[in-house]
Amino acid sequence: MALTDASVLVVGAGIIGRSTAYFLARQGAKVVLLDEGIPTGSPTSRASLGVLTHCNGGDNPYAQLFRDGHALHARLARDLAEDLGADVGWRPLGGIDLFTDPAQLEEVWRFNRERGCQVERLDERALHDAEPGLDGGGEGLYFADDHRVDPLKLGAVLWAAAVKQGASAAWGERVWRIAQAGEAVEIATSRKTHRADFAVLAAGAWTGDLAAQLGARVSLRPVRGQQARFVGAPLRHLVRINGRHFIPDGGEMIVGATSEEVGFRLATTRAAATQFVSEVHSALGRCLPLSRQQAGLRPKPRGGRPLIGPLTDAPRVFVASGHYKNGVLLGPITGQIVARWIAEGTPGRDMSRFAPER
Ligand SMILES: Cc1cc2nc3c(=O)[nH]c(=O)nc-3n(C[C@H](O)[C@H](O)[C@H](O)COP(=O)(O)OP(=O)(O)OC[C@H]3O[C@@H](n4cnc5c(N)ncnc54)[C@H](O)[C@@H]3O)c2cc1C
Repeated sequence: MALTDASVLVVGAGIIGRSTAYFLARQGAKVVLLDEGIPTGSPTSRASLGVLTHCNGGDNPYAQLFRDGHALHARLARDLAEDLGADVGWRPLGGIDLFTDPAQLEEVWRFNRERGCQVERLDERALHDAEPGLDGGGEGLYFADDHRVDPLKLGAVLWAAAVKQGASAAWGERVWRIAQAGEAVEIATSRKTHRADFAVLAAGAWTGDLAAQLGARVSLRPVRGQQARFVGAPLRHLVRINGRHFIPDGGEMIVGATSEEVGFRLATTRAAATQFVSEVHSALGRCLPLSRQQAGLRPKPRGGRPLIGPLTDAPRVFVASGHYKNGVLLGPITGQIVARWIAEGTPGRDMSRFAPER
């Protein structure tokens, strides 16, 4: 079935649900976004660092999705600026990875070069010129294609653009029951029963529980991530040290993120704050005041790849989840693909590797 003006219920107002709502509404679908939370957005999508990591030239469907998703951000930022006059905070900051072990630097440099990635070596002096705020020596690699978008602004602007195209939302409604009823999908929430031609389950780490109501096995688990903001602007680029990001954002620096297997516990911890404070001190050789800490639950799929596509026994219900550490990077491309899939009956690319039931 192919419908550009279909009615679609999108469950979940995180970055994936908002991106999907935006692309659906843009092509003429009647969209209702359902979320148990409030309009300011999901804790997970708000906690994201917004890093759009450089791509490599890997020859597989995930690498291609990653490349296309990365490229889409610049175009989307421009389109949204033209359409709404709004800035989503897309910035081609460039990224610097720091190394104290020359053999490790060599290995990462070779890996990226072999895959056609833009990467430059920075000796100690070049590193100091690029980032005078960093303390200590070592060498670095510079990745021109490390970009950043502000996840909070992106989510808000995508939703404003979807509303401009006629989308509406039901905030504070928890989805209890979902069923495919003949040629329609019915979703019962804490407030009422909604009915539409299609539904998209973009409920982050909770998506598996919703899909299970339709007899589908969609394997996801939450992995908590924490980040913290510090007052001060000592850096110019996205800097990575031992896997930790240090990101300039106006007059603040964001540091993150942890990866913790603690189920659905969303609370921030003192242990993570202490760790971040110590890492800031070791990176800069001085302390900065911590202003805010945030946590989110990344939806981690079984098998590593995102879960995107219709359910086998309920083909009017699509899953769009499991983006784990790259949900902001892959949100817009996921929304674009799902919208096309619903409108034209085909995703326009091979999505078999992303089948949600695997
Ligand atoms: C600390 C941290 C740093 C990160 N950094 C990056 C990064 O730099 N780059 C990047 O690309 N990604 C990053 N990520 C990952 C990214 O944030 C996630 O992949 C992404 O936000 C997931 O979005 P989502 O829309 O799938 O889920 P969510 O944001 O979790 O949204 C799901 C929504 O569904 C709603 N919901 C759930 N169940 C129901 C129900 N039954 N009824 C109604 N509503 C329901 C929830 O209220 C929520 O609003 C980071 C994540 C964290 C935590």
